[in-house]
Amino acid sequence: MAPVVEAVDLARHYQERQGLFAGNKTLKALRGVGFSMPAGRTLAVVGESGCGKSTLARLVTLIERPTSGTLRLDGIDAGTADKSTLRELRRKVQIVFQDPYGSLNPRKKVGAILEETLAINTPMDAAERAVAAREMMARVGLRPEFYDRYPHMFSGGQRQRIAIARALMLSPRLVVLDEPVSALDVSIQAQVLNLLADLQAELNLTYLFISHDLSVVRHFADEVMVMYLGRAVEQGPREAIFSSPRHPYTRALLSSTPIADPRRRGERIKLVGELPSPLNPPPGCAFHPRCAYANERCLAEFPENFNVEGRLVACHGVEEGRIG
Ligand code: SF4
Repeated sequence: MAPVVEAVDLARHYQERQGLFAGNKTLKALRGVGFSMPAGRTLAVVGESGCGKSTLARLVTLIERPTSGTLRLDGIDAGTADKSTLRELRRKVQIVFQDPYGSLNPRKKVGAILEETLAINTPMDAAERAVAAREMMARVGLRPEFYDRYPHMFSGGQRQRIAIARALMLSPRLVVLDEPVSALDVSIQAQVLNLLADLQAELNLTYLFISHDLSVVRHFADEVMVMYLGRAVEQGPREAIFSSPRHPYTRALLSSTPIADPRRRGERIKLVGELPSPLNPPPGCAFHPRCAYANERCLAEFPENFNVEGRLVACHGVEEGRIG
C-alpha cells in the first residue's frame, strides 16, 4: 500500500529583491527534504524558527508548489495531478494552526464553522451537515450546546478542539499540526495532545507534527526529522533520536530541553550564535559557525545524508567517527 505522504528531494526557493540595483537573491527555504509516512503514524519536524518547518507545511498542504522534488499523497504525484485530482488531494490534507484565536472566524458560530467546509466540498444538504457537525463536536469533546456559540466564548483549549473538529470534517488522511499546543497552558496541552492521539488511533490519521518543543515531540512522535536552515540534518525513529542523538545540532536542541535524568546533565551542549540567514548560508556544513566539532572539511564540503544506526545524519564528524 502506498504511503499516505511521500516527499522526495523537496526544495522550495524564493526570489528576494535586494534593492533597486542589486537584483534578486535566492532564498533556499527548503533543500532536499525527503520522508515517507504510512497511515496512522506521526512524523515530528523540529528545529528553530526559520529552519524551514513552515515552508514544508505549506508544500505538504498544497498551499505552495515545490521548486523541485516530488510530493505524493496516497501515491498520487501532486506535481503532475490535474485540477480535479488536486482538489481531491486537498481534501485529504488538512491543517491545524498554532493560534486557535486567529484561525476561527469570530462572526460565525461553531456549527456554521464546521458545516462550511461540507457545504463547499460535498453535496450534503443542510440537515446532513448539521448532523455531521454535531457528531464531530461530540468526537472532539465539545458539548452539544456549543453548536450555537461564537469562538470568543471559549477557552484556548476549547477553540483548538473546534479547529481540530473543522480539520476533520472532510475525513482527511493527513493532518498537518503546526505547533498545535504551543499557545496553550501546559495543563491544557496534555488534554489536546491526548485528544489528538485518540483521534489518530480511531481514524487511522497520519500526522505531520511541527514543533519547536522537544518535550512534546518526545511523547507524541513515531519519527523525528530535525531541520536546520532548510534541510534535514538528522531523521529517524523517535527512540533513536532521543536516546542517542548523533548530529551536534540535535544534541544541542535536546540539551536545551529539561531532562529528569541527573546522569545526563553533564552532557549539556549550549547552542551559541544565531541561525544564519538562508539568503546567505555558510559554505560547507551550514551548522559549522555554531559547531564545536567543525574542522576544515566542514567549512568546505557539504555533508550528504548517510545511514548510521537506523537514522539518517548529515555530518562529517559522525561519518569520520569524531562524534560518537
Ligand atoms: Fe559540525 Fe562538521 Fe558535523 Fe557540521 S559537518 S555538524 S560542522 S562536525
